[in-house]
Amino acid sequence: MTTHIRQRFIVGNWKMHTTAFEAQQLAKGIVDGIGTADHVTAVVCPPFPYLALVGDMLKGSSVALGAQNMYPETEGAFTGEVSPTMLLDLGCKYVILGHSERRHKLGESDGFINQKVRCALDSGLDVILCVGETLEQRESNQMETLLDRQLKLGLAGVSSESLPHLSIAYEPVWAIGNAEHHATPQQAQDAHAVLRRQFSQIFGETEAHRLTIQYGGSVVADNTAAFLSRHGVDGALIGGASLKADEFLAIIRAGIFEIEAEMQPV
Ligand code: PEP
Repeated sequence: MTTHIRQRFIVGNWKMHTTAFEAQQLAKGIVDGIGTADHVTAVVCPPFPYLALVGDMLKGSSVALGAQNMYPETEGAFTGEVSPTMLLDLGCKYVILGHSERRHKLGESDGFINQKVRCALDSGLDVILCVGETLEQRESNQMETLLDRQLKLGLAGVSSESLPHLSIAYEPVWAIGNAEHHATPQQAQDAHAVLRRQFSQIFGETEAHRLTIQYGGSVVADNTAAFLSRHGVDGALIGGASLKADEFLAIIRAGIFEIEAEMQPV
């Protein structure tokens, strides 16, 4: 198999944070500081009401726009929901689906997440599918079974042709928003290897080799290199630390450093 260097993929999930003014300032800070960011794909995912505003600010920059969720229908009587068509219309390229907060706080099932994944891919969005175990599941040795289930059910019916538009975010639930208790780089690397093996059982080795898998869970500028230098850790999904432009830019720079180091001839 030929060696394939995957770009580092750095995504900021702003969750339900910022006012319009703060969103504008944050986007401006990132755009002003990002430069060309070769070999890194940088994405920000603001709350729905600020997608248009932030999208305007990102125009002409190397930062892409993403959404944090969507409803799996292109239009219709779904009060309060947002369709993939609307996200595309606002300039979104990416959508985060299956985030643990939506699974655990809003009760989203694997089946519903799968509907979203297929609808988003069919509509032309790139999907970031989040998977990850709770602490209880990890401690009772259920991590592999759980990841396998989330992957298989979340990706049911997804065609091989769609795979260039799919990435996976491994986000252990116990490590999200928990600086005291984030995964070690070794735990992230091990879980990514499990996911890549499980993905290969569904789609084959070549596709698994090409798959981008990000780690998410209390990534900050100071620990980014420790995660991104690990084999098979292709990027980071960042919550809290993406709300400060300087911190987010430092994470992107760490990503650039790591990929450039990987590209050096040995
Ligand atoms: C997330 O929301 O996906 C996340 C990883 O959050 P945090 O970086 O704050 O742990």
